[in-house]
Amino acid sequence: MDKAKRKAIIAGNWKMNKTPKEATALLNEIKPLVADADCEVIACVPYVDLAAAIEATAGSNVKIGAENCHWAASGAFTGEISTGMLKEIGVEYVVLGHSERRQYFGETDETVNKRTKAALAAGLKPIVCVGELLWERECNITEEVIARQIKLDLWDVTEDELQNVVIAYEPVWAIGTGKTATAEQAEEVCAFIRAQLAKLYNQEAADAVTIQYGGSMNDANADELLSKVNVDGGLIGGASLVAEKFAAIVKAASK
Ligand code: PEP
Repeated sequence: MDKAKRKAIIAGNWKMNKTPKEATALLNEIKPLVADADCEVIACVPYVDLAAAIEATAGSNVKIGAENCHWAASGAFTGEISTGMLKEIGVEYVVLGHSERRQYFGETDETVNKRTKAALAAGLKPIVCVGELLWERECNITEEVIARQIKLDLWDVTEDELQNVVIAYEPVWAIGTGKTATAEQAEEVCAFIRAQLAKLYNQEAADAVTIQYGGSMNDANADELLSKVNVDGGLIGGASLVAEKFAAIVKAASK
């Protein structure tokens, strides 16, 4: 399938930034700047901002995502949020397995897999993050690491469900560091991810999956990264908090 037929997706990952009032203000800035976008535009925001964000973006082309979800429907999981809670208020996407969750909160491929399956079962679209550490790249095991993450994170996910999964390739050494992977490095790994999906499912299913690059993507480097055939969009941290920068990335993806 050619790239133009895949859905290009630009998603902001706000991390632990913006109060509900600040979220509304930022989204009100972003909305008119991306109204003509020819790609999917998503803001993944902190839990307490979700209701305000959904209200602020009603009737616009900006969709709202959460930054995590639990796999159980309910129960004794203090501090967690279920897929049903997210669905009921109108959340459409959820970031899962972000490297900050893996690094600081003990997230493993097993828990990412449980969360992914629960999200899909609830009708949420997971943005599943994979990526190698700098040490792993230096040891030349990037492909091994990515292959393992893809296989485990998507374990038991059906071919039909795969069509609702977005993969974000985020080299951990590039997140929030200002060090962007070169467009060639991003393309190489995104193409590898697609090849892994083809092995696990089939070529047609793999060709339909949106694969984003994430890691210090900004208004200056988005054009080049997004020009690559297997880079279908971006997961954007820092630059998603500045309306003009985020809108410039959306514009680059709309070409
Ligand atoms: C991210 O949080 O997913 C991310 C890519 O962050 P940044 O763009 O700031 O590197």
